[in-house]
Amino acid sequence: MAQPRPEDIYDVTIIGGGPTGLFAAYYAGFRTLRTKIIDSMPDLGGQITALYPEKNIFDVAGFPKILGKELVKNLVQQAKQYDPTICLDEKVLALEDVGEKLIRLGTDKGEHFTKVVIITAGIGMFTPRKYNKPQIDSYEGRGLHYFVKELEPFRGKNILIIGGGDSALDWALNLEPIAGKITLIHRRDGFRAHEDSVRQLFRSRAKVKLFYELKELNGDGFVKEAVIFHNKNNQVEKLEVDAVIACLGFISNLGPIAEWGLDLEEDSIIVNSKMETNRPGVYAAGDISTYPGKVKLIVTGFGEAATAVNNAAKYINPKASVFPGHSSTLLDKSGEVKVSV
Ligand code: FAD
Repeated sequence: MAQPRPEDIYDVTIIGGGPTGLFAAYYAGFRTLRTKIIDSMPDLGGQITALYPEKNIFDVAGFPKILGKELVKNLVQQAKQYDPTICLDEKVLALEDVGEKLIRLGTDKGEHFTKVVIITAGIGMFTPRKYNKPQIDSYEGRGLHYFVKELEPFRGKNILIIGGGDSALDWALNLEPIAGKITLIHRRDGFRAHEDSVRQLFRSRAKVKLFYELKELNGDGFVKEAVIFHNKNNQVEKLEVDAVIACLGFISNLGPIAEWGLDLEEDSIIVNSKMETNRPGVYAAGDISTYPGKVKLIVTGFGEAATAVNNAAKYINPKASVFPGHSSTLLDKSGEVKVSV
């Protein structure tokens, strides 16, 4: 293998530009590390951008309530202060050691060289679970949605939401103020959602029908009718609808990451308290990482990103301190950072 030119070697390469990866990029910039983010999606923001940009998030410290897309906008702005290189629509397929503190990442578009890798790949490559029934799936993009990117197109519409998890309930609650009629069907009577969302759902004007499932969709090019059935007595009912949102969960898999020789527990990468994996120079943080007591939340990802980057800074330069100092005291009057590794 030809040796990469020094200018092609980054200090830190972050795989995954979700909230954890974006905050890691900010932090790496703050530590004056030359940083690159690679993400397989066309936009930054990970699960938030792909699955719930228009939903409010209530458990990010310092924000009593923030729209998903607003949080991503702020994270991107924060990360871009240090001008990281951003490669989108690019899937990382291979990770190999090619020298002392030198890692090569192979992608579907080329290769990248880096001293340290921080894997913030979330739930890996994820796709919504679909019906896999041609009669129903043929309406995808024609009134049948598996996730929602914008609320406005649903204004005034009669909407059927299917599912009993957080996604289904969140969409029901978020769309309730603007929808025409809104019905939620669920195949059981138990919900896998926040207790508070369940309470709010039953107080909302959404009509909730338990033990119902979707049988078929009808329309003339665009969905107009949903045929649902009661799964205990097979009673069939027809609903006039303009839109159906099926929240059947997601199928995710680590994809190529599972082949990189990392210690795994189910679909998560095992890390220690420095967020190190079993491979030198390879760290993991956010949803993809696990350790005893792990909680998969945006805020835990932020803390883990800071831990990973600060320990990576010391790995790159053993004379550097793990503790970065405080951002509030390390900025001089011009806004420049006085910390160095
Ligand atoms: P992700 O957001 O999953 O980002 C990972 C990125 O890595 C993705 O963009 C993916 O494309 C990329 N990637 C994966 N593999 C590769 C590869 N091989 N090459 C290149 N790129 C790759 N959490 C909360 O704290 N509060 C909430 O209210 C909340 N609500 C939620 C609502 C819904 C509907 C869902 C689905 C999740 C919710 N979560 C919530 C969970 C939260 O979104 C995740 O904890 C968070 O997104 C994890 O961030 P991450 O950066 O670790 O991973």
